[in-house]
Amino acid sequence: CGIVGYIGKEEAAPILLDGLSKLEYRGYDSAGIAVFDGEKINVAKTKGRLKALSELTHDGILLPGTLGIGHTRWATHGSPSDTNAHPHLNTEETIVVVHNGIIENYIKLKKKLEGRGYQFVSETDTEVIAHLLDYYYKGNPLEAVTKIMHRMEGSYALGIIFKEHPNELYAVRKDSPLIVGHTDGGSIIASDVPAVLKYTRDVYFIENEEIVRLTEQDMEFFTVDEEPLQKKPVHIDWDA
Ligand code: GLU
Repeated sequence: CGIVGYIGKEEAAPILLDGLSKLEYRGYDSAGIAVFDGEKINVAKTKGRLKALSELTHDGILLPGTLGIGHTRWATHGSPSDTNAHPHLNTEETIVVVHNGIIENYIKLKKKLEGRGYQFVSETDTEVIAHLLDYYYKGNPLEAVTKIMHRMEGSYALGIIFKEHPNELYAVRKDSPLIVGHTDGGSIIASDVPAVLKYTRDVYFIENEEIVRLTEQDMEFFTVDEEPLQKKPVHIDWDA
């Protein structure tokens, strides 16, 4: 339901928790964050309010690192629970994803992946995305992302981290909103403007089936055919 992601010079977890708190008005039943610490992708997630997640992570201090994604969930597939909360990982814990929306053909995809030996731990449609990325990832994240876009039906806004690409954060969407912008020392993604207003008033609205690769300083936009795209920011002159 709410997505925030950050890559840059600052500690990610406090930015994620703060951003998610700005999206609280949308309602949610669980929350979680994933932060890459240079060696490992660490995940903390829990059913309940953001306060529970802040307590679990000691306001984010327990998850150090400057690259991360966060989520507040409004369950559509699978009950509200710690396990079903996002972020979701592939089995090797090298790819992590947060998702807003519904993958309509997830049962078909799940059966195919199970047939290839993938084991699922949650009841969500979202977990399919983590394993599907794992299946298509051969070293090039952009290629893996475009491949899954051709397989998935439904609506999605995604924040994705690949452990092998620790200087990059990926964002993509279809029929579920997502914006990106620059902060002082980094780049941020969010599902809605209030989460980023503290850092920037110049935001890029991602259109359907557009992909963004964010680094500390840059953001590059691509089509689903991996063609580069030029985009202009929109200045936000209202307050949340
Ligand atoms: N369909 C996903 C789930 O139930 C995402 C829900 C959301 O948008 O928060 O986990």
